[in-house]
Amino acid sequence: MKAGHGKVVRVHYRLTGDDGTLLDSSEGQEPLTYLHGYDGLLPGLERGLEGMEAGQRARVDLLAADAYGPHDPEAVIRAARDQFPEDLVLTPGLEVSARSDEGTMTFRVVEVSEGGAVLDGNHPLAGQNLHFDVNVVEVREATAEEIAHGHVHGVHDHEH
Ligand code: ZN
Repeated sequence: MKAGHGKVVRVHYRLTGDDGTLLDSSEGQEPLTYLHGYDGLLPGLERGLEGMEAGQRARVDLLAADAYGPHDPEAVIRAARDQFPEDLVLTPGLEVSARSDEGTMTFRVVEVSEGGAVLDGNHPLAGQNLHFDVNVVEVREATAEEIAHGHVHGVHDHEH
């Protein structure tokens, strides 16, 4: 069976950057499971998996623009120490959320100084070209309920 619209696909992947750095991997975990054609994956990665069958491997290369977009320098901001809760220990990599009129935004702490911190609101993979090595484990028909919900069932319990 080929991966395509309305199929549930289980796939192991390794994600590397341009310099070969490992960014993410399903190794040692359950394979990534998604419902094809329902916005469960990066569109470019889904296109790369289209038509693949269990046992097949492929390399899918995505430009940053087709992945998480360019890194937006305007989303990098400096925040004073008194803008954070007093008991919060600021460390690089920590995720903090900030509420504004436009909703809640998540920032990553990238730099900490006496006076405060530099925060980056970009997706951690923004600005990076992504290289996926994929290995399709299984392709099956989705159930009518999965199609109705637009996501896969039976992997993790979830609320409806
Ligand atoms: Zn559901």
